[in-house]
Amino acid sequence: MAHEYDVVILGGGTGGYVAAIRAAQLGLKTAIVEKGKLGGTCLHKGCIPSKALLRSAEVYATTKRGEDFGVVTGDVSLDFTKVQKRKHQIINQLHKGVQHLMKQGKIDVYEGIGRILGPSIFSPMPGTISVEMNSGAENEMLIPKNVIIATGSQPRTLPGLEIDGNVVMSSDEALEMESLPDSILIVGGGVIGIEWASMLSDFGVEVTVVEYADRIIPTEDQEISKEMQRLLKKKGIKMVTGAKVLSETLTKDNGVTISAEVKGVVKEFKAEKLLVSVGRLANTEGIGLENTEIQIDKGFIVTNEFYQTKESHIYAIGDVIGGLQLAHVASHEGITAVEHIAGKNPTPLDYHLVSRCIYSRPEVASVGITETEAIEKGHKVKVGKFSFRAIGKALVLGESDGFVKMIADEETNDLLGVHMIGPHVTDMISEAGLALVLDAVPWEIANTIHPHPTLSEAIGEAALAVDGKAIHG
Ligand SMILES: Cc1cc2nc3c(=O)[nH]c(=O)nc-3n(C[C@H](O)[C@H](O)[C@H](O)COP(=O)(O)OP(=O)(O)OC[C@H]3O[C@@H](n4cnc5c(N)ncnc54)[C@H](O)[C@@H]3O)c2cc1C
Repeated sequence: MAHEYDVVILGGGTGGYVAAIRAAQLGLKTAIVEKGKLGGTCLHKGCIPSKALLRSAEVYATTKRGEDFGVVTGDVSLDFTKVQKRKHQIINQLHKGVQHLMKQGKIDVYEGIGRILGPSIFSPMPGTISVEMNSGAENEMLIPKNVIIATGSQPRTLPGLEIDGNVVMSSDEALEMESLPDSILIVGGGVIGIEWASMLSDFGVEVTVVEYADRIIPTEDQEISKEMQRLLKKKGIKMVTGAKVLSETLTKDNGVTISAEVKGVVKEFKAEKLLVSVGRLANTEGIGLENTEIQIDKGFIVTNEFYQTKESHIYAIGDVIGGLQLAHVASHEGITAVEHIAGKNPTPLDYHLVSRCIYSRPEVASVGITETEAIEKGHKVKVGKFSFRAIGKALVLGESDGFVKMIADEETNDLLGVHMIGPHVTDMISEAGLALVLDAVPWEIANTIHPHPTLSEAIGEAALAVDGKAIHG
């Protein structure tokens, strides 16, 4: 039987389900097709499970140093089964919440694999969607006026470094580990690799990170990378940069052994497990793109600023279009696409204003451009930096590593970028994000009174430091 809709969304991840809610709010008859679980990667294999594990790791590490706070705990041990159980409970609660939101919005959810068909008896244009139902029931046929492809991404690996799910893992398998290894080699020192390195080290695992670029988290400001490298090293994590992993040398016998070429010298690494974190591949296979005119570039679906593909009634959002592969980006793209479908004339998303976060210990958060990018763009920059060491609240928390760095244009005073490393910076970056959206200049941030004692005082001080006026620095 065929069902007609204003919008059908292929994929119920953070991009897809948020788009569905906005569509329902705008009165559009909406359906979602999801082959796995509503909530997608972020809820089941990404943001939420990783942050739940990171929090357990933080509590474990903090408890072990309880005496620093005058709290005598005796022997501290870890029950990893309970750690995983807690993670699952959080996921289940949020999953139920998403299911409830679908019901509340009267959004039809089809559990199965969706595929776009070409022009057919149902529609003269590509876009009819056939759903192979997970239940085994007969395929459903959906006839939408508009389609949003939100099929997300999956872990990428390196040729020759096949994921076996046991010794060689991607983040998908690592999240489901039933026990912790004694040692791990992490290939890739980007956001996901560094979060895992920090978490596993806090859990007591011996961690080595090998990164191809000449610094870890290479898309962040250079000073942030340097500070992160220093602080992770202090935690006992080994980091090797400028390292080209030689996949063909991989052997799996009592753990893994693999070599990497590091600045012309071949070095061997051994560990119980290997985690590959080298980026994500867009899910473009098997969704019927061959039945459309949709273009792909470097593996990602090509769209305009309203997320229309070459077939203007078929939109694509989230990880499947590449760019910043972040949950909050996927959902904003979904909202923009739906508002465009509804004729609401949305403002295209300015990616320069998107905050980026790393939830390791220490955390990293940034918005706007780095100092190097600013110089490359021809700005004469002035930089304000303020250390958490001079912030009372950071000392109270016992977390005084890191700093806030603010970059402004010397001539115009325009704020160009804010980069932070330290405690709870992922919760503080939105102030800098708002400042950029409102086109604020550093003295306006400094004149925003930051309550004492809070970590946010570091932002006010960094803003003052831009003009050499920091009070406590
Ligand atoms: C370990 C890890 C940690 C992360 N941490 C963060 C973080 O802290 N913050 C952050 O912002 N981002 C984080 N991310 C990234 C974030 O998860 C993604 O950017 C986000 O999930 C993208 O949303 P999406 O809707 O585009 O795709 P997804 O969430 O991947 O959802 C796509 C959905 O489409 C479904 N699907 C695919 N093909 C079909 C089909 N043919 N038919 C039906 N359904 C289909 C899939 O089952 C899936 O549910 C993390 C990712 C990983 C892997």
